[in-house]
Amino acid sequence: MQTQPKASHFIDGEYVEDTAGTPIDVIYPYTGKIIASLHAATPPIITQALASAERAQRDWGAMTGTQRGRVLRRAADIMRARNHDLSVLETFDTGKPYQETSVADATSGADALEYFGGLAGAMTGEHIPLAGGDFVYTRREPLGVCVGIGAWNYPTQIACWKAAPALACGNAMVFKPSETTPLCALQVAEILHEAGAPPGIFNVVQGMGDVGASLISDARVAKVSLTGSVPTGRKVYAAAAENIRHVTMELGGKSPIVIFDDADIDNAVSGAILGNFYSTGQVCSNGTRVFVQKGIKEAFIARLGARLQGVVMGDPQDPTTNFGPMVSDTQRKIVQAYIQKGVAEGARLTAGGNTPDRDGFFIEPTVFADVTDDMTIAREEIFGPVMCVLDFETEAEALARANATEFGLAASVFTNDLTRAHRMAAGFAAGTCYINTHNLAPVEAPFGGSKLSGVGRENSKLALNHYSEMKGVYVAMNDVEAPF
Ligand code: NDP
Repeated sequence: MQTQPKASHFIDGEYVEDTAGTPIDVIYPYTGKIIASLHAATPPIITQALASAERAQRDWGAMTGTQRGRVLRRAADIMRARNHDLSVLETFDTGKPYQETSVADATSGADALEYFGGLAGAMTGEHIPLAGGDFVYTRREPLGVCVGIGAWNYPTQIACWKAAPALACGNAMVFKPSETTPLCALQVAEILHEAGAPPGIFNVVQGMGDVGASLISDARVAKVSLTGSVPTGRKVYAAAAENIRHVTMELGGKSPIVIFDDADIDNAVSGAILGNFYSTGQVCSNGTRVFVQKGIKEAFIARLGARLQGVVMGDPQDPTTNFGPMVSDTQRKIVQAYIQKGVAEGARLTAGGNTPDRDGFFIEPTVFADVTDDMTIAREEIFGPVMCVLDFETEAEALARANATEFGLAASVFTNDLTRAHRMAAGFAAGTCYINTHNLAPVEAPFGGSKLSGVGRENSKLALNHYSEMKGVYVAMNDVEAPF
């Protein structure tokens, strides 16, 4: 497959290059080899992208929702038709196995385009009757030019999760992918354009944090939506506050999975595997603190160990591979350091922990047992395939310890006790909760975090509120009364 794009940026409906920008080499995590070379956006490229978005937004925002929705739904169809090629590219960009990318990336992007395309024509204001025949009506209006900034773990999905609701509401978007995975968002831009999106409605500019920072600080920008880490979130939120802009922050987590002794243990093991090793552990909502009730702890660890025999580590493009390399050597080194810290702080390593002696940024799926709440590996987001198993005795204790974190992205409970399941879900201090599963993110459901994990929600009808604002119009049906 041709992995070198026609140019680095996509602006105003076409590929654009400026070789004066800082070079960005795209590395395939399986081979460590360069598969594409791009350039970061220079100030003229940033200006061009924002100016084109501002221009395009005026007409796009004036179209009916039904007209906009038609474009998004067409884009969804094109995406589904090209799922194979998009999945292969996603695998080159991130190293995630094709077995995953072929069912979780372009497909989830297409779901978002279809869902918000369907909602676009159904967005309305309301009529509020008042005394004496006066009334207020509300108009749902677009915000204007939105900036999207993406992390490297889901480059297609993140671009679509931001673009679909933004465009449905009549906004234009300038999107900056992570410099680590810059290829997939360009495909999203091409597809939207091919589906009939007017030039400028979705522009992609490449670059590091400084490019993101210049986009946010531009006076033309009405909103910024970031998917990234908490430290970056702090900077982006502060920069957006300077001009009192709207924000959506999808940040990191250290989510709990609580497994009671009455749970279906095989389902619980499956949930813990999904919540720790899918995408080689590079998922923000991962349940990396697995609290297991004392009586079943050793049985859980034994079943988990047996299931880990099913890991197929290898060429991510081979459809039988189910565990890929980490996205970069840098990320792998961060994870290795956490594993060493876990051992040093006294956690019991029950699986993995090693770096396989082979090409690619691989690291074994790793399980620590006897982890205590104060250990570094139980407190900090590792963002790699490292599961911490902790044990507990009572429900109250489990809930208190699950919530004792500065993060609040996701939480799940495994139990067959109906009322306990709902008590736990109500008690979790997290934005995205699960009963008897973990890590599913259908477009119909709200996704997002509380506490340090973020502000706002992506997906579901709620996302529309984060990409539009309500204007109230008071209509007087009577003479105006004045004091003099
Ligand atoms: P980073 O926070 O390092 O980067 C996120 C994006 O922000 C990148 O595009 C980065 O550019 C950009 N950026 C960095 N500094 C600035 C700045 N000052 N102003 C504007 N933009 C900036 O995250 P990672 O890419 O390392 O992704 C991993 C993190 O993302 C994890 O913490 C994970 O939990 C979180 N995440 C959250 C999700 C959620 O939905 N809640 C989903 C997926 C991931 P560049 O990298 O090119 O320098």
